[in-house]
Amino acid sequence: MSLLSIGTVAFDTIETPFGKAERVIGGSCSYIALAASYFTPKVNIVAVVGDDFPEEKIQVMNQHGINTEGLQIKEGEKSFFWAGKYHMDLNSRDTLTTELNVLADFDPIIPESYQDCAYLMLGNLTPQVQQTVINRLKKRPKLILMDTMNFWMEVAMDDLKATIKMVDVLSINDEEARQLSGEHSIVKAAKVIMEMGPKFLIIKKGEHGALLFHKGEVFFAPALPLEDVFDPTGAGDSFAGGFIGYLAKTNDISFESMKRAVIYGSAMASFCVEKFGPEALMNLTQAKIENRVQEFIDLVQFEIVLD
Ligand code: AMP
Repeated sequence: MSLLSIGTVAFDTIETPFGKAERVIGGSCSYIALAASYFTPKVNIVAVVGDDFPEEKIQVMNQHGINTEGLQIKEGEKSFFWAGKYHMDLNSRDTLTTELNVLADFDPIIPESYQDCAYLMLGNLTPQVQQTVINRLKKRPKLILMDTMNFWMEVAMDDLKATIKMVDVLSINDEEARQLSGEHSIVKAAKVIMEMGPKFLIIKKGEHGALLFHKGEVFFAPALPLEDVFDPTGAGDSFAGGFIGYLAKTNDISFESMKRAVIYGSAMASFCVEKFGPEALMNLTQAKIENRVQEFIDLVQFEIVLD
Protein backbone atom coordinates (compact mmCIF):
# COMPACT_ATOMS: atom_id res chain seq x y z
CA MET A 1 0.00 0.00 0.00
CA SER A 2 1.16 3.54 -0.65
CA LEU A 3 3.15 5.26 2.07
CA LEU A 4 3.71 8.98 2.54
CA SER A 5 6.39 10.22 4.91
CA ILE A 6 7.08 13.76 5.97
CA GLY A 7 9.92 14.93 8.17
CA THR A 8 13.27 16.65 7.96
CA VAL A 9 15.94 16.11 5.32
CA ALA A 10 18.98 17.65 6.88
CA PHE A 11 22.66 18.02 7.58
CA ASP A 12 23.80 16.59 10.92
CA THR A 13 27.02 16.96 12.85
CA ILE A 14 27.30 14.05 15.22
CA GLU A 15 29.73 13.46 18.04
CA THR A 16 29.92 10.10 19.78
CA PRO A 17 32.61 8.63 22.06
CA PHE A 18 33.95 6.96 18.88
CA GLY A 19 34.36 9.99 16.67
CA LYS A 20 32.80 12.94 14.95
CA ALA A 21 31.03 13.20 11.61
CA GLU A 22 30.50 16.69 10.17
CA ARG A 23 27.49 17.63 8.05
CA VAL A 24 26.43 14.12 7.12
CA ILE A 25 23.03 13.59 5.53
CA GLY A 26 20.37 13.12 8.15
CA GLY A 27 16.90 14.23 9.13
CA SER A 28 13.93 12.21 10.30
CA CYS A 29 12.50 11.79 6.80
CA SER A 30 15.77 10.51 5.32
CA TYR A 31 16.02 7.69 7.87
CA ILE A 32 12.30 6.84 7.74
CA ALA A 33 12.16 6.72 3.96
CA LEU A 34 15.34 4.63 3.60
CA ALA A 35 14.19 2.13 6.22
CA ALA A 36 10.67 1.89 4.77
CA SER A 37 12.00 1.47 1.23
CA TYR A 38 12.95 -2.14 2.05
CA PHE A 39 9.28 -2.97 2.67
CA THR A 40 7.21 -1.01 0.17
CA PRO A 41 8.14 -0.44 -3.46
CA LYS A 42 7.25 3.25 -3.37
CA VAL A 43 7.78 5.69 -0.54
CA ASN A 44 6.57 9.22 -1.23
CA ILE A 45 8.15 12.04 0.73
CA VAL A 46 7.19 15.63 1.51
CA ALA A 47 10.08 17.67 2.89
CA VAL A 48 12.16 20.77 2.24
CA VAL A 49 15.86 21.46 1.70
CA GLY A 50 17.94 24.46 0.69
CA ASP A 51 20.04 24.72 -2.47
CA ASP A 52 23.03 23.56 -0.40
CA PHE A 53 21.67 19.99 -0.42
CA PRO A 54 23.64 17.75 -2.84
CA GLU A 55 21.72 16.51 -5.87
CA GLU A 56 23.52 13.14 -5.72
CA LYS A 57 22.05 12.49 -2.26
CA ILE A 58 18.57 12.97 -3.69
CA GLN A 59 19.51 10.50 -6.42
CA VAL A 60 20.51 7.95 -3.77
CA MET A 61 17.00 8.24 -2.36
CA ASN A 62 15.51 7.79 -5.83
CA GLN A 63 17.63 4.67 -6.33
CA HIS A 64 15.93 3.26 -3.24
CA GLY A 65 12.51 3.80 -4.84
CA ILE A 66 11.88 6.97 -2.83
CA ASN A 67 9.72 9.41 -4.76
CA THR A 68 11.07 12.92 -4.18
CA GLU A 69 8.41 14.80 -6.18
CA GLY A 70 7.26 16.36 -2.88
CA LEU A 71 10.79 17.43 -1.85
CA GLN A 72 10.95 21.23 -2.17
CA ILE A 73 14.33 22.79 -2.94
CA LYS A 74 14.48 26.43 -1.81
CA GLU A 75 16.86 28.58 -3.85
CA GLY A 76 19.17 30.77 -1.78
CA GLU A 77 18.21 29.09 1.50
CA LYS A 78 19.96 26.66 3.82
CA SER A 79 18.86 23.15 4.78
CA PHE A 80 17.82 22.23 8.33
CA PHE A 81 20.92 21.64 10.46
CA TRP A 82 21.19 19.69 13.70
CA ALA A 83 24.22 18.93 15.87
CA GLY A 84 24.20 16.49 18.75
CA LYS A 85 26.66 14.93 21.16
CA TYR A 86 26.15 11.52 22.75
CA HIS A 87 27.09 10.64 26.28
CA MET A 88 29.30 7.65 27.06
CA ASP A 89 26.32 5.26 27.43
CA LEU A 90 25.03 6.30 23.95
CA ASN A 91 21.48 6.22 25.33
CA SER A 92 21.34 9.92 26.01
CA ARG A 93 22.50 12.91 24.02
CA ASP A 94 22.60 16.68 24.10
CA THR A 95 21.36 18.75 21.22
CA LEU A 96 24.10 21.30 20.57
CA THR A 97 22.48 23.18 17.69
CA THR A 98 19.13 23.22 15.93
CA GLU A 99 19.06 25.59 12.94
CA LEU A 100 15.60 25.48 11.42
CA ASN A 101 16.61 27.42 8.25
CA VAL A 102 14.20 26.28 5.46
CA LEU A 103 11.99 24.60 8.07
CA ALA A 104 11.08 27.93 9.69
CA ASP A 105 8.42 28.73 7.08
CA PHE A 106 7.88 25.34 5.46
CA ASP A 107 4.59 25.04 3.62
CA PRO A 108 4.12 21.30 2.89
CA ILE A 109 2.71 20.97 -0.63
CA ILE A 110 1.30 17.53 -1.31
CA PRO A 111 1.58 16.42 -4.95
CA GLU A 112 -1.71 15.18 -6.43
CA SER A 113 -0.13 11.75 -7.05
CA TYR A 114 0.35 11.33 -3.26
CA GLN A 115 -3.32 11.86 -2.42
CA ASP A 116 -4.21 8.15 -2.38
CA CYS A 117 -1.80 7.37 0.50
CA ALA A 118 -3.07 4.71 2.88
CA TYR A 119 -0.24 5.02 5.39
CA LEU A 120 0.97 8.37 6.66
CA MET A 121 4.19 8.74 8.62
CA LEU A 122 4.50 12.09 10.36
CA GLY A 123 8.22 12.13 11.03
CA ASN A 124 9.69 14.46 13.64
CA LEU A 125 8.95 17.98 12.42
CA THR A 126 7.10 21.17 13.42
CA PRO A 127 3.75 19.90 14.85
CA GLN A 128 1.86 22.59 12.94
CA VAL A 129 3.30 21.26 9.66
CA GLN A 130 2.43 17.67 10.65
CA GLN A 131 -1.15 18.82 11.22
CA THR A 132 -1.29 20.73 7.92
CA VAL A 133 -0.33 17.55 6.06
CA ILE A 134 -3.22 15.62 7.65
CA ASN A 135 -5.62 18.44 6.76
CA ARG A 136 -4.40 18.64 3.17
CA LEU A 137 -5.08 14.98 2.43
CA LYS A 138 -8.52 14.72 0.83
CA LYS A 139 -9.09 11.29 2.37
CA ARG A 140 -7.92 10.30 5.85
CA PRO A 141 -5.24 7.60 5.54
CA LYS A 142 -5.94 4.15 6.98
CA LEU A 143 -3.20 4.70 9.59
CA ILE A 144 -1.37 7.78 10.81
CA LEU A 145 1.84 7.31 12.81
CA MET A 146 3.52 10.29 14.42
CA ASP A 147 6.98 10.73 15.86
CA THR A 148 8.17 13.79 17.74
CA MET A 149 10.80 14.92 20.24
CA ASN A 150 11.43 17.03 23.35
CA PHE A 151 12.41 20.07 21.25
CA TRP A 152 8.77 20.48 20.10
CA MET A 153 7.47 19.92 23.64
CA GLU A 154 9.54 22.89 24.71
CA VAL A 155 8.64 25.29 21.89
CA ALA A 156 5.18 24.19 20.66
CA MET A 157 3.39 22.07 23.29
CA ASP A 158 -0.15 23.24 22.40
CA ASP A 159 0.29 22.54 18.68
CA LEU A 160 1.89 19.24 19.56
CA LYS A 161 -1.05 18.10 21.69
CA ALA A 162 -3.51 19.19 19.00
CA THR A 163 -1.63 17.06 16.44
CA ILE A 164 -1.31 14.06 18.76
CA LYS A 165 -5.11 14.08 19.04
CA MET A 166 -5.40 13.40 15.30
CA VAL A 167 -3.14 10.34 14.99
CA ASP A 168 -3.55 6.59 15.51
CA VAL A 169 -0.06 5.72 16.73
CA LEU A 170 2.45 7.91 18.57
CA SER A 171 6.11 6.93 18.79
CA ILE A 172 8.35 8.65 21.36
CA ASN A 173 11.19 7.74 23.70
CA ASP A 174 10.87 7.18 27.46
CA GLU A 175 12.23 10.59 28.44
CA GLU A 176 9.82 12.30 26.07
CA ALA A 177 6.91 10.20 27.38
CA ARG A 178 7.69 11.42 30.90
CA GLN A 179 7.94 15.03 29.73
CA LEU A 180 4.70 14.85 27.75
CA SER A 181 2.67 13.17 30.49
CA GLY A 182 4.24 14.60 33.64
CA GLU A 183 4.37 11.02 34.99
CA HIS A 184 7.56 9.21 35.96
CA SER A 185 6.18 5.67 35.68
CA ILE A 186 6.17 4.61 32.01
CA VAL A 187 2.93 2.67 32.49
CA LYS A 188 1.17 5.70 34.00
CA ALA A 189 2.69 7.93 31.31
CA ALA A 190 1.31 5.60 28.62
CA LYS A 191 -2.20 5.85 30.08
CA VAL A 192 -2.06 9.65 30.19
CA ILE A 193 -0.75 9.89 26.63
CA MET A 194 -3.33 7.49 25.18
CA GLU A 195 -6.03 9.65 26.74
CA MET A 196 -4.68 12.46 24.53
CA GLY A 197 -5.90 10.59 21.44
CA PRO A 198 -3.70 7.82 19.98
CA LYS A 199 -5.03 4.26 20.21
CA PHE A 200 -1.51 2.84 20.06
CA LEU A 201 1.61 4.14 21.75
CA ILE A 202 5.21 3.11 21.19
CA ILE A 203 7.73 4.04 23.85
CA LYS A 204 11.32 3.53 22.73
CA LYS A 205 13.94 2.84 25.36
CA GLY A 206 17.12 2.89 23.27
CA GLU A 207 19.32 -0.12 23.97
CA HIS A 208 16.61 -1.38 26.35
CA GLY A 209 14.09 -2.05 23.59
CA ALA A 210 10.61 -0.71 22.91
CA LEU A 211 7.12 -1.06 24.36
CA LEU A 212 3.88 -1.08 22.38
CA PHE A 213 0.75 -0.12 24.32
CA HIS A 214 -2.84 -0.65 23.16
CA LYS A 215 -5.90 -0.50 25.40
CA GLY A 216 -4.94 -2.55 28.49
CA GLU A 217 -2.27 -4.58 26.66
CA VAL A 218 1.46 -4.12 26.36
CA PHE A 219 4.05 -5.80 24.14
CA PHE A 220 7.82 -5.62 24.64
CA ALA A 221 10.53 -5.96 22.02
CA PRO A 222 14.17 -6.03 23.10
CA ALA A 223 16.94 -4.22 21.30
CA LEU A 224 19.53 -6.57 19.87
CA PRO A 225 22.67 -6.67 22.04
CA LEU A 226 25.17 -5.43 19.46
CA GLU A 227 28.92 -5.64 19.75
CA ASP A 228 29.52 -2.30 18.04
CA VAL A 229 27.25 0.69 18.30
CA PHE A 230 28.77 3.72 16.58
CA ASP A 231 26.00 6.26 16.23
CA PRO A 232 22.43 6.06 17.54
CA THR A 233 21.30 9.04 15.42
CA GLY A 234 18.24 8.12 13.42
CA ALA A 235 17.59 4.89 15.31
CA GLY A 236 14.11 6.09 16.30
CA ASP A 237 13.34 7.14 12.74
CA SER A 238 14.67 3.89 11.26
CA PHE A 239 12.47 2.08 13.77
CA ALA A 240 9.46 4.10 12.62
CA GLY A 241 10.30 3.48 8.94
CA GLY A 242 10.59 -0.27 9.45
CA PHE A 243 7.43 -0.32 11.58
CA ILE A 244 5.18 1.54 9.15
CA GLY A 245 6.87 -0.02 6.12
CA TYR A 246 5.96 -3.46 7.42
CA LEU A 247 2.34 -2.40 8.09
CA ALA A 248 2.06 -0.87 4.62
CA LYS A 249 3.47 -4.06 3.08
CA THR A 250 1.09 -6.39 4.91
CA ASN A 251 -1.81 -3.90 5.01
CA ASP A 252 -2.74 -5.35 8.39
CA ILE A 253 -3.09 -2.90 11.28
CA SER A 254 -4.23 -5.35 13.96
CA PHE A 255 -2.39 -5.38 17.30
CA GLU A 256 -0.83 -8.76 16.34
CA SER A 257 0.55 -7.29 13.13
CA MET A 258 1.85 -4.26 15.03
CA LYS A 259 3.79 -6.57 17.36
CA ARG A 260 5.58 -8.00 14.32
CA ALA A 261 6.07 -4.48 12.97
CA VAL A 262 7.80 -3.50 16.24
CA ILE A 263 10.29 -6.33 15.66
CA TYR A 264 10.94 -5.24 12.06
CA GLY A 265 11.31 -1.65 13.29
CA SER A 266 13.78 -2.77 15.95
CA ALA A 267 15.74 -4.71 13.31
CA MET A 268 16.04 -1.60 11.11
CA ALA A 269 17.15 0.47 14.12
CA SER A 270 19.80 -2.13 14.93
CA PHE A 271 21.32 -1.73 11.46
CA CYS A 272 21.19 2.06 11.68
CA VAL A 273 23.33 2.34 14.81
CA GLU A 274 26.16 0.24 13.38
CA LYS A 275 27.49 3.07 11.18
CA PHE A 276 27.64 6.87 11.28
CA GLY A 277 24.63 8.60 9.71
CA PRO A 278 22.23 6.68 7.44
CA GLU A 279 25.03 4.75 5.67
CA ALA A 280 24.04 1.38 7.15
CA LEU A 281 20.56 1.73 5.64
CA MET A 282 21.92 2.13 2.13
CA ASN A 283 23.13 -1.39 1.43
CA LEU A 284 20.73 -3.81 3.05
CA THR A 285 19.16 -6.84 1.43
CA GLN A 286 16.00 -8.79 2.24
CA ALA A 287 18.21 -11.68 3.39
CA LYS A 288 20.12 -9.46 5.84
CA ILE A 289 16.85 -8.11 7.26
CA GLU A 290 15.32 -11.58 7.63
CA ASN A 291 18.50 -12.87 9.33
CA ARG A 292 18.38 -9.98 11.76
CA VAL A 293 14.72 -10.63 12.55
CA GLN A 294 15.64 -14.27 13.19
CA GLU A 295 18.20 -13.05 15.75
CA PHE A 296 15.40 -11.22 17.55
CA ILE A 297 13.26 -14.36 17.53
CA ASP A 298 16.13 -16.45 18.91
CA LEU A 299 16.92 -13.85 21.55
CA VAL A 300 13.53 -13.97 23.23
CA GLN A 301 12.36 -17.50 22.52
CA PHE A 302 12.19 -19.81 25.52
CA GLU A 303 10.09 -22.66 26.73
CA ILE A 304 8.65 -22.98 30.18
CA VAL A 305 6.18 -25.66 31.15
CA LEU A 306 4.06 -24.41 34.05
CA ASP A 307 2.47 -26.90 36.41
P1 AMP B 1 16.53 10.29 16.11
O1 AMP B 1 17.93 9.94 16.49
O2 AMP B 1 15.73 9.15 15.60
O3 AMP B 1 15.85 11.09 17.15
O4 AMP B 1 16.64 11.25 14.84
C1 AMP B 1 17.74 12.10 14.61
C2 AMP B 1 17.43 12.95 13.38
O5 AMP B 1 16.43 13.91 13.73
C3 AMP B 1 18.64 13.74 12.95
O6 AMP B 1 19.03 13.28 11.67
C4 AMP B 1 18.20 15.20 12.91
O7 AMP B 1 18.49 15.86 11.70
C5 AMP B 1 16.71 15.15 13.13
N1 AMP B 1 16.25 16.18 14.06
C6 AMP B 1 16.89 16.65 15.15
N2 AMP B 1 16.16 17.60 15.77
C7 AMP B 1 15.02 17.74 15.05
C8 AMP B 1 13.84 18.54 15.18
N3 AMP B 1 13.70 19.44 16.18
N4 AMP B 1 12.86 18.37 14.26
C9 AMP B 1 12.99 17.48 13.28
N5 AMP B 1 14.06 16.70 13.08
C10 AMP B 1 15.07 16.81 13.96
